[in-house]
Amino acid sequence: MMEKLQEILTSTKGITHHHWPILQHEIPVITISGTSDGPTLMISGLLHQDELIGPAVFDKLLNGQFNPKPLKGNIVILPIVSTYQVGLWRGFEYFHDAASATEREKLKGGKKIVNANRFFPGKPEGEWMEKFSYEITENFIKNADVVLDFHNCRLIDGCFAACSNSHEESIALANSMGMDFIDLQNDSSMFSQTMYLQASKINKTALLLEFPGYQEQSCESSTDRAYNSLLNAMKFLKMIPGELKPQPSTFFKREEKAESIISEDYGHFSSRVKNGQTCQKGDILGVLRNLNDFTISKKFIAPFSGACASIGPSNGYSIIKPGDEIATYKKYYTLNEVLK
Ligand SMILES: [Zn+2]
Repeated sequence: MMEKLQEILTSTKGITHHHWPILQHEIPVITISGTSDGPTLMISGLLHQDELIGPAVFDKLLNGQFNPKPLKGNIVILPIVSTYQVGLWRGFEYFHDAASATEREKLKGGKKIVNANRFFPGKPEGEWMEKFSYEITENFIKNADVVLDFHNCRLIDGCFAACSNSHEESIALANSMGMDFIDLQNDSSMFSQTMYLQASKINKTALLLEFPGYQEQSCESSTDRAYNSLLNAMKFLKMIPGELKPQPSTFFKREEKAESIISEDYGHFSSRVKNGQTCQKGDILGVLRNLNDFTISKKFIAPFSGACASIGPSNGYSIIKPGDEIATYKKYYTLNEVLK
């Protein structure tokens, strides 16, 4: 299996589309082979069936605005990792109708589709999802130097990367991409069987990338932001030419609890800071406007030196009621502090 992708990458030039068999299914795989040596970058999307940023960004790589001629190394694109789950979720009888009834039931787990990002690195024998994850690991992750897995988060979460706190190359890459903040994970702070954490365990530079705009909301600004982050990553990896603007990043440690900032009143909330923007104690994070005359009735103040991991009410609706959380606020770290 290892050989097959390598063979494609060495024998083709430019963009080629493939229909890749996995178990008794197929997933789309696109390779962009550069004209000179460099790293192999794997980018994946739709591992979670309702997070559409991946294919939206990868379309931009393929629609003519990205010039593959100066590319050093290779890009391997998996735009729809969970073709099977996407089909089930949309109520299609899977795109190619290749699954047995038993497997459909297993994947659906009764009603709920399982979380496809909880089975890595997978196993050659076992549950369907374990075998599927094993195939992704063996065919693609092991053949890549860098793995970027694209996801969507809530509108209030901003654009952020997550990576292992013990993998310096991953931290340095995340720092180059212009994200709002970087969420550092240790072995116990998140589900460890995710694609990116398992990839970093076999010494791949690996990031989970989150961009706002769940499900089928058209979120053009998120797509542009994600595409620019991807170009930044390729510049940092020296795969494409171009200057990187220095972008001091805000780092959070996932295991450190965030302070929840709650409104005690009704009102209209407006933020005064962005996700990951560093604040001093006393800075105004946001204001509440009275619903009677729209005057400011409350200022939410930074309780200590830190930054917002999320800012705004969780349902995105800015008319809020007593008890609504309007921000989560954390201590932050600089690149130098996390690398020492
Ligand atoms: Zn996701």
